[in-house]
Amino acid sequence: MRDKYIISGKGPFGEEFVTSGGVKINEVNFKSMESLICPGLFFSGEVLDVDGITGGFNFQHCWTSGWIAGMAVSKLNH
Ligand SMILES: Cc1cc2nc3c(=O)[nH]c(=O)nc-3n(C[C@H](O)[C@H](O)[C@H](O)COP(=O)(O)OP(=O)(O)OC[C@H]3O[C@@H](n4cnc5c(N)ncnc54)[C@H](O)[C@@H]3O)c2cc1C
Repeated sequence: MRDKYIISGKGPFGEEFVTSGGVKINEVNFKSMESLICPGLFFSGEVLDVDGITGGFNFQHCWTSGWIAGMAVSKLNH
C-alpha cells in the first residue's frame, strides 16, 4: 500500500502492439481458417503470424478471422 515507484519514462509504443510470430499463414486455409496440417483445428487472431502496423489492422484481422473461423466451424457436420 505504501510502495513508491519512480517513473522513468513511457513504454516503447509502436513495438508491443502485436505478437510477432505464431502459426504460419501458409499452413492455414484462409477461406475457413482451418489448419492445413491438422484438419479440424481452426485459428483466428493473434495466434497466427499476422503482424499489422498499428491503426486497427490487428483488431480487424482478429475480428475477421474469428468470424470466418466461427462460420466454418458452424457448418461442420457434428
Ligand atoms: C498495448 C496494446 C495496444 C494495442 N493497440 C492496438 C491498436 O491500436 N490497433 C490494433 O489493431 N491492435 C492493437 N493491439 C493488438 C490487438 O489488441 C490484438 O492483436 C488483439 O486484441 C488480439 O486478439 P485475439 O482475440 O487474437 O487475442 P486476445 O485479445 O489476447 O484474446 C485471447 C483471449 O483468450 C483468453 N485466454 C487465454 N488463455 C486461455 C485459456 N487457457 N482458456 C480460456 N481463455 C484463455 C484471454 O484471457 C483472452 O481474453 C494492441 C495490443 C496491445 C497489447
